[in-house]
Amino acid sequence: MPLYILNQDGKQGMTRRQCTGEYKIKPIKKKVRELLGYPYPKRIPKSVFVEQWVGISTDEFHRAKDSDVKYMRNRHPLIDLNWSRADCIRYLASIGLAETPKSSCLGCPFHGNQQWRNIRDTSPQEWADVVAFDAAIRQGNARANAAGNRLLGQAFLHRSRVPLTQAPIDHVTAAEWAARRQEIDDPAAAVEEVENGVADGCSPWFCRGEVEPVQDDFGLAS
Ligand code: SF4
Repeated sequence: MPLYILNQDGKQGMTRRQCTGEYKIKPIKKKVRELLGYPYPKRIPKSVFVEQWVGISTDEFHRAKDSDVKYMRNRHPLIDLNWSRADCIRYLASIGLAETPKSSCLGCPFHGNQQWRNIRDTSPQEWADVVAFDAAIRQGNARANAAGNRLLGQAFLHRSRVPLTQAPIDHVTAAEWAARRQEIDDPAAAVEEVENGVADGCSPWFCRGEVEPVQDDFGLAS
């Protein structure tokens, strides 16, 4: 998971994303092997495989890829149907699911203020969970620290780099606007993202916020 870092010298950074491989692809492959009856490291016969349906729409067809293992074969039904994201939204609305949110982890650092407020105001238990998680990652990754690859600063879930309970999620600070507008050329897009989060949802085939700058010298790199 990428985290916002406040370095000891006051510099700001971001850790390397490692969500996809570690937390999505690996568990899926493990489960598929288990379902097939060939847990790692058993060899899987060529004739044994699962068909995996991946919900990639036509607007993001470049993400539609073959699996990198023979025991999983990818199908892309939305592309077969020629459905765009708008087609999916229309369909969801037609069956009463107009409010379907984009998929993401509860404590994703790419949430915008609106998403943090929504958790805080509608789900106290989930808010308590993300606040506890935010506190737990302050010193970085325990495994990396134990291996001597210590985080030289502090890690946060909110882009303001303060604890979630103190983060300015009810309004956007001038500093946040300024920082994001330096990173994104389009001021309107920067405004939209700080408030509503990274536009893309997350899936095992794509991580949100892939355009974020990556900094991997803080002890959290994989
Ligand atoms: S939603 Fe995606 S980018 Fe965000 S923490 Fe989860 S896996 Fe990582």
